[in-house]
Amino acid sequence: KWFLSFDLMQGRWNLCIIWQVTGSCFDSLGGRKRARLMEGSKKKRKRYGGAAQGNRRPLDGSHEEPMPLPNPMVGFNLPNDRLRSVTRRLPQQAIGPPFFYYENVALAPKGVWATISRFLYDIEPEFVDSKHLCAAARKRGYIHNLPIENRFPLLPLPPKTIFEAFPHYKKWWPSWDPRRQLNCLQTSMSSAKLTERIQCALASSGNPPPKSVQKYVMDECRKWNLVWVGKNKVAHLEPDEVEYLLGFPRDHTRGVGKTERFKSLGNSFQVDTVAYHLSVLKDMYPNGVNVLSLFTGIGGGEVALHRLGIHMRTVVSVEIGEVNRRILRGWWDQTQTGTLIEIADVKSLTDDRIATFVRRFGGFDLVIGGSPCNNLAGSNRHHRDGLEGEQSALFYHYFRIVDAVKSAMGRM
Ligand code: SAH
Repeated sequence: KWFLSFDLMQGRWNLCIIWQVTGSCFDSLGGRKRARLMEGSKKKRKRYGGAAQGNRRPLDGSHEEPMPLPNPMVGFNLPNDRLRSVTRRLPQQAIGPPFFYYENVALAPKGVWATISRFLYDIEPEFVDSKHLCAAARKRGYIHNLPIENRFPLLPLPPKTIFEAFPHYKKWWPSWDPRRQLNCLQTSMSSAKLTERIQCALASSGNPPPKSVQKYVMDECRKWNLVWVGKNKVAHLEPDEVEYLLGFPRDHTRGVGKTERFKSLGNSFQVDTVAYHLSVLKDMYPNGVNVLSLFTGIGGGEVALHRLGIHMRTVVSVEIGEVNRRILRGWWDQTQTGTLIEIADVKSLTDDRIATFVRRFGGFDLVIGGSPCNNLAGSNRHHRDGLEGEQSALFYHYFRIVDAVKSAMGRM
């Protein structure tokens, strides 16, 4: 468990961490998919303590406890934040090559993060809302075994407010819209109908509009991240604005349909946030890194490494979306000199294939990826069936693959 406390004497925040490896912090194992995946890896599981040592809870979920989310959601530290200093000791089984970095939505159903954490060697998640690093919110959990000292941010630091990012929106921004930052950038955009409805509602009321109209408009603006582009006129962000907010180069996703661009961008990393965490690799690997990139999407991890000036000697990228693969390949060919190997499905990356790659490249320095959140994220109420959902269960492949790399590198 962890919480922030304000030290009145010293006038600073302290992050207090009580890490409970066993007992009620963790939920129970179960589920067919997982059982299949875990077959034959019982020996490995012993290393992780927890479940393997008789701490399994009853299957009814009655002992599940949600992982408490820190408030403010700033992770272990933030750029230029000298007041907070957190040290962490990784569980023994989490130490040693490869470095790995896992990402998913912070607000997942009960027990999800506890399970993910238990599989990933009992490492405590680092929850960060990217609103502390850029102009849009993005609440994500990260589990990684990277050092957390001496991180540095990408420069220039991204703008932190809407008006700093897009000064021209000031012109039409009504005084009763208090937003200074955007909400989480989503995978879909608002309809033209909605913009029209909002315009009608405002045109037929006075200035300022009555509270009820203000509330209606603000709710929609917050939900869809609408910005003011004219008198009474709101619009959704353009894909190049979303690229900018997420730290991608301009036109990174250009050349595919708008809907596809929003979808891929909505699922991607916030580059400045991830780069801040990965920055510790820069001094460690002056000759570059070999990366195994799982669920690559549009390459948020690769763009972060590139912007940090970390050379990628080899990237083995696993991404099922053909459009996403095309976007990554386009960017790679323009910016990189290393080797990119593309694989479509994590399921086809067998332990044998992993061992072959490890021998061929002398191991992977980093395994990075965020598995799909379709069954976890709040907006998907219909299929919010947790980690056992068809898409979300792909997390277990992330674990399987990291573990296979670990074993193969252990044999080197
Ligand atoms: N971090 C990425 C996005 C991750 S979203 C970025 O920065 O862009 C999860 C990704 O997993 C999606 O791009 C989705 O297409 C991909 N995916 C879904 N199922 C997959 C599978 N079976 N194998 C490989 N990739 C898959």
